[in-house]
Amino acid sequence: MQNPTEQDIAALRTAQAEFFKSGKTQSLDFRIEALRKLESVLQKRADDVLAALKSDLGKPGLEAYVAEVFFLLTEIRLFCKKLKRWAKPKRAGHPFYFLPAKSEIRRKPFGCALVIGPWNYPIQLALSPLVTAVAAGNCVILKPSEIASSSSDVLSKIVAEAFDPAHVTVIEGGAEASKLLLDQPFDFIFYTGSKRVGKIVAEAAAKHLTPTVLELGGKCPCVVGGDVDIEMTAERIAWAKFFNAGQTCFSPDFVVVHESIRDELAKKIAGKVSEFYADDPINDFGKIVNDSHYERLSALLPRSEAVTKIGEDDPAIRHLAPRILPSADWSDEAMQDEIFGPVLPVLGFKNESDLIPKLRELSSPLAMYVFSRDQEFCETIINSIRSGSVCINDLTKQSSNLDLPFGGVGSSGMGRYRGKFGFEAFTYQRPVTRRYFVKDFFATHPPYGNKLEKMRKFLK
Ligand code: NAD
Repeated sequence: MQNPTEQDIAALRTAQAEFFKSGKTQSLDFRIEALRKLESVLQKRADDVLAALKSDLGKPGLEAYVAEVFFLLTEIRLFCKKLKRWAKPKRAGHPFYFLPAKSEIRRKPFGCALVIGPWNYPIQLALSPLVTAVAAGNCVILKPSEIASSSSDVLSKIVAEAFDPAHVTVIEGGAEASKLLLDQPFDFIFYTGSKRVGKIVAEAAAKHLTPTVLELGGKCPCVVGGDVDIEMTAERIAWAKFFNAGQTCFSPDFVVVHESIRDELAKKIAGKVSEFYADDPINDFGKIVNDSHYERLSALLPRSEAVTKIGEDDPAIRHLAPRILPSADWSDEAMQDEIFGPVLPVLGFKNESDLIPKLRELSSPLAMYVFSRDQEFCETIINSIRSGSVCINDLTKQSSNLDLPFGGVGSSGMGRYRGKFGFEAFTYQRPVTRRYFVKDFFATHPPYGNKLEKMRKFLK
């Protein structure tokens, strides 16, 4: 449904609430069957997905397939395989004075979930929470980002083909559609996007006391010690930073490297970027999502002598050539906010005591990267600032692993998902204690008489 009215949304909400009440989603077999259907529709429409991602973000086919289609197929298969195990009630103990009794913790779905997606990985970051919500037994309304409009259109078609709309449906539109949705009393909200809108979502959720996961952004630092393998470090940074043209929430926003190797590392990163994109600088490199982001990024760039530019810009197709800023400083324009584009400032540090206070000035990022052979140095950096996640001597590996929880802390968000952690996020723990019609040995009801004395012998 596109740009719905308040009445459309209310009617859809009612239909989903009825669907949830029918109890169908409580069945694990029903959930697995629904996910299998989605898997087959996604496979069938994989080429449509790649075409949409090309149109919205100029995504190279390989980047689109690996980070969106294959990632999702893997996550769906993981849920199908593990769901019954994860959903099993967990036995729990109880105090001896409750005996005889049986206690367990069951994982129950919240009900109807709202998922709001961003534009940078518009398929993965919409369908991954959707898959998780379905696996957890919820009904879902998905609101993809209107900025990646071709992806939004494909998502709408995929979901319509795979699900009954009373179970899962897509509402297309921008901030207006989001606002109408947020006025509704959802049972759970999962939001991915900017900090600014995250606050609006949290405020709307608070009105209905709706539990919320917020997946936000931040300036993710990449700290490089003076003792690294420079070649390998440069190659890893060049890949992680410029994948999806730098429009990845957990990619390194900037590098801060020991002064002794700063020039060499900056040159090597530029060299690797040249190698990567020499053959096909346009088709192997993503484009900036829209004109306003293109202008925002262009405005961050300092005068030409302070920039290493690799290739040429083509504003007509929003191709912003990769930039390294080899002599960047903490006071630069590019260091004031999250960059979210193909611009890499490289700063220097002399020692930990000048570096750590600077890192602490940034609000808690989604991820942090440290390169060094010195384990103590790595631990000191990691323990000095908060971040959602950490990867040592490489980048992004911690965030694309379904066996690890994904999410931010502080200003980069709250809550975790991916695989089992997502199943836990989209369900609540419901403790269930069963007792039997057996006389209570430790009855605590009045008249109390001299029960206190007896009790104190046992309850010491
Ligand atoms: P955005 O906040 O502009 O948009 C995200 C969603 O919010 C879209 O669906 C949009 O339609 C909706 N929206 C926009 N204005 C709204 C309003 N006033 N009220 C309600 N909803 C509204 O974010 P974006 O530009 O798509 O994403 C970029 C940001 O997201 C970056 O900061 C990036 O780091 C972050 N991000 C985080 C993650 C993560 O997993 N933590 C992933 C991707 C992006």
